[in-house]
Amino acid sequence: MGRLDSSALARELDALTVRDQFRVRSRVDTLDPGHPERCFVDGRALINFCSNDYLGLRAHPELIRAASEGMRSYGVGAGAAHLVCGHSAEHAALELELAAFLGRERALLFSTGYLANLGVLSALSGRHDVVLADRLNHASLIDGTRLAGAQLHRYAHADAHACGRLLDRYPDSRLIVTDGVFSMDGDVAPLTALAALAHARGSWLVVDDAHGIGVLGAHGGGSVADAGLDAAAVPVLIGTLGKALGTFGAFVAGDALLIETLIQRARTYLYTTALPPGIAAATRAALRIVRDEPWRRRHLQALVLRFRDRAAALGLPLSASMSAIQPILAGSSARALAWSDALLKHGFWVGAIRPPTVPQGSARLRVTLSAAHAQTQVDALVDALGEVVHQGLQ
Ligand SMILES: *Cc1c(COP(=O)(O)O)cnc(C)c1O
Repeated sequence: MGRLDSSALARELDALTVRDQFRVRSRVDTLDPGHPERCFVDGRALINFCSNDYLGLRAHPELIRAASEGMRSYGVGAGAAHLVCGHSAEHAALELELAAFLGRERALLFSTGYLANLGVLSALSGRHDVVLADRLNHASLIDGTRLAGAQLHRYAHADAHACGRLLDRYPDSRLIVTDGVFSMDGDVAPLTALAALAHARGSWLVVDDAHGIGVLGAHGGGSVADAGLDAAAVPVLIGTLGKALGTFGAFVAGDALLIETLIQRARTYLYTTALPPGIAAATRAALRIVRDEPWRRRHLQALVLRFRDRAAALGLPLSASMSAIQPILAGSSARALAWSDALLKHGFWVGAIRPPTVPQGSARLRVTLSAAHAQTQVDALVDALGEVVHQGLQ
C-alpha cells in the first residue's frame, strides 16, 4: 500500500529466496545450428532437455533461409500493427496456410501466445459472463479472464464430470477453456467429452494447443485434430508458433465470424506491432516440414516411449504423460533445484519448475524431448536421472 520503497522490494526478493522461489536466468552463449539440442550455457557444454523445440526446427536451414529472404524483402520489423501497415503478403499467406492446415475457415496471427489468449478471452467475454476453466490451465488463460473481468470458475484438472457439474450450477457459462496438452504436466485434456458438454449446453470450447500443434495428430494438426474434432466442436483453436514450429508468435483459428470479431475487438491484436514478416516466412517453411517430414513426429514418439520405459525400470517418479513433456515429480522446490543442479554436472539441462508455476508441493523437473535428440542422448539422460534421484538429494 502507498508509496514504493526499495527496502520493501528487497524484503520481497529475500522472501522468494527463503522459499526457493527465486529465479535466475541461465545465459545461452551459443547453439550448434546443426545440433540445436546442444548448447553452451554459462560456459558449459550441455544437452538441452528443457526447450519446447519439439521437432528440432528452430535452427533448420530452410527456416533460416526463409527468414533471411523475408527480411530482405520486408525489412526486419513489421513497422506497425496489422491494421496500420504491418500486414505483409507473408502474414496473409501464413494465415491462409494455417487455416488450411487446421481445417478452419480462417486463422489470425498474434504476436505471442500470451497476447492471443488475452485477446480471445477479453474479446469473447466480459464482466457479466461466466468462464469455466481447467485448474491447471496456462497462466495466460487465467490472466485473459482477469482482463475480461469475467467470472472464472475452475474445475478439477482434466475432469469433464467436474466441468459438467459447474455447467449445472452456471448454465449460462459462455466459454469452457482448456489447454490441449498441459504445459507443465504433458497430459492431454479430455477434449471429446468437453466438446460434447459444450455442444449440449451451448457454450463455446476454447482450446489452447500450444504444445500439441505440430506434434500430435497424424499430420501434426495437434490434440484437437488427434481427437477428430472440427470447428463445430472446437470453435476457438489457439496455437503458438514458438514451440514445435520453431519460430515465434501465435494464431487463433476458427470460422470467419470469429476471426473478424477478433480483428475488430481484440485489443492485443489491434494495439501491438505485427510479427516480423521474416518470422511469418520462416513459419511457412516450418509448416511445410511438419507436413513433409512425418519422421520427426515418429522419432519423437519413439523417444517418449523409450524414456518412459527406461525411467520406469529405474523406479523414477514419472507422470501419466505420453507427450514430449515428461515431468519427474520432486515435491519440494529445494529438491527439484538440487536435481536440476546435479544434472548440469552430468551435462544435461533440465528445468526445475516450482510454485507458483505449479501447485505447492508439486515442484518437478520438466524434461522435454525433441526430434533433435538422439536415442543415445535420451538413454544417457535417464541414467543420470537414475543416479541423481536415487542419491536422495534434498
Ligand atoms: C507457451 C504457452 C503460451 C504462451 O505462448 P507465447 O507465444 O510463448 O507467449 C500460451 N499457452 C500455453 C499453453 C503455452 O504453453
